[in-house]
Amino acid sequence: ATPTALLVGTGRGAQLGILIKGPEVLESTRRIDTIVLDKTGTVTTGQMTLHDVVTGDGEDPDEVLRLVGAVEHASEHPIAQAIADAAARRTGDLPPVADFRALDGRGVRGTVEGRELHVGRAALLAESHELPADLRAAQRAAEEHGRTAVLAGWDGRVRAVLVVADAVKPTSAEAVRMFRDLGLAPVLLTGDNRDVARSVAAEVGIDEVISEVLPQDKVDVVRRLQGEGRTVAMVGDGVNDAAALAQADLGLAMGTGTDVAIEAGDLTLVRGDLRAAADAIRLSRRTFGTIK
Ligand code: ADP
Ligand code: MG
Repeated sequence: ATPTALLVGTGRGAQLGILIKGPEVLESTRRIDTIVLDKTGTVTTGQMTLHDVVTGDGEDPDEVLRLVGAVEHASEHPIAQAIADAAARRTGDLPPVADFRALDGRGVRGTVEGRELHVGRAALLAESHELPADLRAAQRAAEEHGRTAVLAGWDGRVRAVLVVADAVKPTSAEAVRMFRDLGLAPVLLTGDNRDVARSVAAEVGIDEVISEVLPQDKVDVVRRLQGEGRTVAMVGDGVNDAAALAQADLGLAMGTGTDVAIEAGDLTLVRGDLRAAADAIRLSRRTFGTIK
């Protein structure tokens, strides 16, 4: 965090696992009525695992995984790491990738063994690839189960659907109840697909869901909510969340997240437990005597 980090209250903050940048931050907590939660890495563990590789006609799953793994190896996204790890485990050394590019939070591109691969969300692949009906069905089935479907293609056609999922943190549902008890409306915000987002939201008890938001647009969502007269706390962990954390009336960063998010936040939840966000808000409201 920041060198000027202080602990909330009289050692209570430390006990609760909360780091705060300065006492003035606490002032804002009394007006907060909305808490925006990033999905991946905040409500969920962010520890993705590859569950399945579904291929189209004539493609060998291990061979596709080897190529896709090579491209994802160059990406830092948790989904990419899960795919690259599984590929290395299943197929051995991964081939080198050329012309790698991350495509604004929707996926990646890279050339492996002369093939130009695109890997990422359906909307990204749809720009330049045809999606065969059986793979579209595999994508839908995965998303209906609350899993993320990662599409991989080359030469204008989607070749495989890689099914990836992470788990909701065991403490997230209780944290959401705590937010409601404090009078805060929880909102789930994610770049992920709508069905996946809804499934996670249902699991933790959130009904306001904003999904398929590009990384650079998360900040606009916070601004829009503020424009509706809401006072917004935002909890996030990723590079993607930094601008939104800074824009929020109160930005809370997961201590398990990226340095960029931690720097952008007003407050850090050291243990990455969402319940600490509710503790922090309750504690600082009490400190400011707003609970009568
Ligand atoms: P969140 O907002 O929940 O933290 P992100 O904004 O990090 O999620 O990611 C949004 C979506 O973009 C992911 O769910 C995934 O479908 C896609 N995506 C982003 N980067 C990659 C990648 N390297 N490989 C595959 N898919 C990716
Ligand atoms: Mg995240």
